[in-house]
Amino acid sequence: MLLEVRNVTKKFGGVVANKDVSFSIEQGQIVGLIGPNGAGKSTMFNMVSAVFPPTIGEIVFEGKNIEKLPNYEVSRLGIARTFQNIKIFKNMTVIENVMVGLHIHTRSSMLSAAFFSPRARKEEQILYETAMEYLKFVGLEGLYDQMSSSLPLGALRLLELARALATKPKLLLLDEIAAGLNHKETKEMARLIQQIKEKGITVFIVEHDMDLVMRICDKIIVLDQGSKIAEGTPKEIQNNEDVISAYLGADIEEKAGEGA
Ligand code: ADP
Ligand code: MG
Repeated sequence: MLLEVRNVTKKFGGVVANKDVSFSIEQGQIVGLIGPNGAGKSTMFNMVSAVFPPTIGEIVFEGKNIEKLPNYEVSRLGIARTFQNIKIFKNMTVIENVMVGLHIHTRSSMLSAAFFSPRARKEEQILYETAMEYLKFVGLEGLYDQMSSSLPLGALRLLELARALATKPKLLLLDEIAAGLNHKETKEMARLIQQIKEKGITVFIVEHDMDLVMRICDKIIVLDQGSKIAEGTPKEIQNNEDVISAYLGADIEEKAGEGA
């Protein structure tokens, strides 16, 4: 198993955001994490990517316990992510944002970079070319020198994806990467995610667009009020009574709230 989450609980004061959750992710798959708003999906992503540790439980990546490791070590081990609220450096150009992702694997120290040693300069050139490759992959190469602050939402999400890929992850977490995208952009994102899988990268995705989730996922894990209520293939999940009641219940409430 690439990733094993074992009996993980996360409490924020009195709020139990994840409750005794266990599941595993096999190398090479696209796994979906779904559930109504507030189910604990982003909290789970935050623990797997070491934004914060679980209150109880273990997170094991390639056989190694990572639940107490700092964020930068977990990214060096090969876990990268995008955020529900995009975190792009707005005052940098598009290509600079991708180069930030690449920097975790370069050898030059801060000092040699500061003095522009030949080695640092050579590395910078390679970084630039590599960053361009990732921009090409997501289709943003034409915007490489634009300020990131000028990008529309769809391009920002692609840029964050390119930056995460530039860390050469084994496991890529995508938190609502299609939120706010139009139909065409969502289809393009689905195609990209499938290409990422074809490169051998395992993808763990939180997404509200059920068509997208059902189409691309090999396996789906369902959370409701912090607990795992189901796990299975898209077909199994679509027909699962507990999922239907958790989901449709929430859906009907939301629709009622909208006055529909
Ligand atoms: P989802 O991503 O499934 O919508 P979240 O994981 O964001 O759900 O939230 C699960 C619960 O945990 C919610 O009740 C939320 O308010 C709470 N929560 C999430 N993050 C924090 C935090 N940093 N501090 C306090 N409460 C949090
Ligand atoms: Mg969330």
